[in-house]
Amino acid sequence: MLNIVLFGPPGAGKGTQSAMLVEKYMLNHLSTGDLLRGEIAAGTALGLEAKKLMDQGVLVPDEIVIGMIRSKLDQNPDAKGFIFDGFPRTVAQAEALDNLLTEKSTGITCMLALEVNEAELVKRLLHRGKDSGRSDDQDESIIANRIREYNAKTAPLANYYAAQNKFKGINGIGEIDAIFNSLCEAIG
Ligand code: ADP
Repeated sequence: MLNIVLFGPPGAGKGTQSAMLVEKYMLNHLSTGDLLRGEIAAGTALGLEAKKLMDQGVLVPDEIVIGMIRSKLDQNPDAKGFIFDGFPRTVAQAEALDNLLTEKSTGITCMLALEVNEAELVKRLLHRGKDSGRSDDQDESIIANRIREYNAKTAPLANYYAAQNKFKGINGIGEIDAIFNSLCEAIG
């Protein structure tokens, strides 16, 4: 299986590049952000709980997102592989993901980290907020919270995957197609 963690701060371009990678490598796309927004749209209890946190730009509890990923893995036993987008976001999530994949006799192939500076991220998110309808993209203080959460809890995962020799940094600034080519080269 080809199992890719697509990593990077909010606004790094994970969603855009995931869509292109999914098509080229025939992978299943698992975005915890999309799954959570699906729960909110469906009005579930889980969605209601998550919404309060997402609206503040803070992470939802590990158990919630790990449970969602577990059931998606169980629902797709014949997948050729997965792109994990926006997951894992904490060391506990990364450890849980390793355990879930080990149970299925597979593992993470590589972590591709899109690198984009903070000024560019804020600019992109505010731009996206104009038509995405995402309230967390429309307020600079919420964006700042998301970037703070990323730096505190998520950025350390680069070391987690580097220790397994799976970390690959990719310049996330430039033409979408050029970034896509760099990702494909890194996948090899
Ligand atoms: P972005 O990468 O632009 O922040 P996402 O859609 O990935 O967008 O995430 C939106 C929000 O959903 C996050 O700010 C967080 O509240 C919640 N979220 C998504 N994935 C996770 C996760 N793996 N762990 C905890 N919270 C998450």
